[in-house]
Amino acid sequence: TLPTIYVVTPTYRRPEQMAELTRLSQTLMHVEKLIWLLIEDADTTSTMISEFLKRTGISHVHLSAGPVNVKYKGGKPRGVGSRNRGLQWIRQNAREGVVYFADDDNTYDIQLFKEMRYTKKVSMWPVGLITQTGLSTPVVRDGKLVGFYDGWIGGRKFPVDMASFAINIQFLKSRPHATMAYKVGYEEDSFLKSLAPLEPADIELRADNCSKILVWHTQTRKNRPAQKIDHQKFYGTNLM
Ligand code: UDP
Ligand code: MN
Repeated sequence: TLPTIYVVTPTYRRPEQMAELTRLSQTLMHVEKLIWLLIEDADTTSTMISEFLKRTGISHVHLSAGPVNVKYKGGKPRGVGSRNRGLQWIRQNAREGVVYFADDDNTYDIQLFKEMRYTKKVSMWPVGLITQTGLSTPVVRDGKLVGFYDGWIGGRKFPVDMASFAINIQFLKSRPHATMAYKVGYEEDSFLKSLAPLEPADIELRADNCSKILVWHTQTRKNRPAQKIDHQKFYGTNLM
């Protein structure tokens, strides 16, 4: 039988939220045997999101990160409380399959889910970046992982993007202390290191030996949020 894919998505309230979630949900609708863990960065879950989830028809789990009692050094790491909440739920409720951290604003090719489904420990693939670097990727020579390429290395053992890897659930459960650190820039590295022992040779290379881009780290431009203004006065027309 097909292993289940548990997609863990941190999300938070802002003007573009429903647009991002609509786009992501309409990608996930194409993937079979998938459970979407949508985790709000808030103390409680909201009716807006639960009604949205119901409407998608996707098998889902709706959670909130809850209050995260952590003092942040160097700013708040984005989505970490939600991802750790998702990991906790998976440890308690999932028996088989793979976990994938899918931020709500990235762009996913549905082929990516075929690539990750049969992960034994940890699988990896390139991520397209909309920067001068162009991509973040494992470097593969003669079918072997020989290094990583990214716009910033920062002394990391695993200098990879959040969207670049999936984890087998039995493997995750064999590492009961695996967790993501609340440290900006080191979220992925801290999590992958916490899966030790995990060596580069254990990593399963996907997307045609990491030669194809099936996910992009996209970002939606922030606009000035809607203000409380008199729309009738400033933008209305009146046909009467
Ligand atoms: N996020 C969150 N709380 C925040 C900021 C971000 O839950 O305060 C989520 C966001 O919805 C996304 C993920 O964390 O799924 C990564 O955030 P973002 O996309 O803003 O980070 P970037 O891609 O710019 O590094
Ligand atoms: Mn993002």
